[in-house]
Amino acid sequence: MEKHYSAYFFDLGGTLLALEHDEIARSETGKVTLLPGVRDHLLSLVGTPVFVITNQAGVALGHLSEATARSFIDQVNAAVGQVITDYRICMHHPLAGCPCRKPQPGMVLDLARTHAINLAEAAYIGDTANDEQCAQRAGVGTFLWAPAFFREI
Ligand SMILES: [Zn+2]
Repeated sequence: MEKHYSAYFFDLGGTLLALEHDEIARSETGKVTLLPGVRDHLLSLVGTPVFVITNQAGVALGHLSEATARSFIDQVNAAVGQVITDYRICMHHPLAGCPCRKPQPGMVLDLARTHAINLAEAAYIGDTANDEQCAQRAGVGTFLWAPAFFREI
């Protein structure tokens, strides 16, 4: 029996979506690929707040449009029955010093405030040390590695 958390925070690239050269992999038509296990697992979380938080500095760097960055989340949401409650994207330059670029906790704290989430009871699922650090700084109670969460059940 899986533990029940107050909310789930998911990283995007490498956690929900396949990566290519450290960026979200897209087909020629702009379609993204969900990693194995993601769809079924997210569908099973219906009824619990599900959030996505992602750094997309490509917007500030000029090689990714804001609309394309948002379409990543829209595509995931469409594939998982609209189970995503809300999301935040940091589109700032890596050197901008913004409070939202992970490992800074700004996006998690903003979502927690907006949706009245008890972070000590929440889980954060990610694939990098950056995510783990973000979870710790935000005070998220549980950090889980994405491969274990989705694919080694
Ligand atoms: Zn930012």
